[in-house]
Amino acid sequence: MSHKGVLTIQLDRIAGNWRRLSAEVGAQCRTAAVVKADAYGLGADRVAPVLEAAGCGLFFVATLEEALALRRVIAADIAVLNGLVPGASSTYAQQRLLPVLNDGAQAGEWAAAIGRGARAILQLDTGMSRLGLPPEALAALALERLDLALVMSHLACADEPEHPLNARQHGRFTAMLARFPGIPASLAASSGIFLGSRFHFDLVRPGAALYGVNPVPNAASPVATVIRLEGRIIQVREIDSGEAVGYGASFVASRRSRVATVAVGYADGYLRAAGNQSITYIGEHSVPVIGRVSMDLLTLDVTEIPRDMCRPGDLVELLGERYGVDALGRDSGTIGYEILTSLGSRYERVHAGDLA
Ligand SMILES: *Cc1c(COP(=O)(O)O)cnc(C)c1O
Repeated sequence: MSHKGVLTIQLDRIAGNWRRLSAEVGAQCRTAAVVKADAYGLGADRVAPVLEAAGCGLFFVATLEEALALRRVIAADIAVLNGLVPGASSTYAQQRLLPVLNDGAQAGEWAAAIGRGARAILQLDTGMSRLGLPPEALAALALERLDLALVMSHLACADEPEHPLNARQHGRFTAMLARFPGIPASLAASSGIFLGSRFHFDLVRPGAALYGVNPVPNAASPVATVIRLEGRIIQVREIDSGEAVGYGASFVASRRSRVATVAVGYADGYLRAAGNQSITYIGEHSVPVIGRVSMDLLTLDVTEIPRDMCRPGDLVELLGERYGVDALGRDSGTIGYEILTSLGSRYERVHAGDLA
């Protein structure tokens, strides 16, 4: 018997979600794919080739290192969101990596080193104050010395459709685009796609929605679940009413109970904050996590579950169709994105549905 849990990643469903988002924006708008942070923890080397085969022609990563690793597995364009690493312009140009130029210094360095010899992307700051050039920095830019493939900005509140910053950022972006006639523009990531067609421009950049995170948090998800996470039961015991479970004795049994201990803990990305909050599934039965989550273990109340369904060695569903990353995020005080990117290295990873 292994202690390992099993993380199953359905590649065909990731491709299906990409097609679903492409259909949402229509044929006039391109759909890129964000595969930063190892495709949100799901394996960029497996995910990106499948999306490339589905027709995706532009991939975004965060760092130069991620871009160089991705270059070994795809031929399509790769953009580096965190920008230009000083002194590395020729590496970007040679490997066909498009730096997202995020300030005047990066734009100047790229213009001096590469000029119009290779394409780059320019990021504008329209109200997030994170990366990109603010409106007042545009005047000093030597635009004629850049070959821009795309001008982009990023929305701060796209998951809250009523938030006034969405319209404000859209207005600022549109105004700044007057400086870039004929150059494709991009504003929307996953949630921005669902703010309506005026947010689509020429290209959208979904990440999370490809991986099954619901881009419209207050409505039914338009995308499919793509992962299933199972943990392995390593012990089952009976405890008397009044006995405590786990660190801090934060759960005390109010009846004679059966407790199953599963070999997954916060070191595997099952966050400690989920203790006494989240649920799992054994067959059709929903089973609550009781007590604190520890580093390598969590505990379940299986009192109501038939004994032959929870024996040592059996698998318990921790994430799936019924209870996914958004639900575990909510119950852990965070978001599905953080659940995905926290999934640890101790699972057996199964990439299924690979059609590439
Ligand atoms: C991460 C990121 C995206 C993708 O965002 P999702 O919400 O995961 O779709 C798009 N653009 C930028 C600039 C990003 O940093």
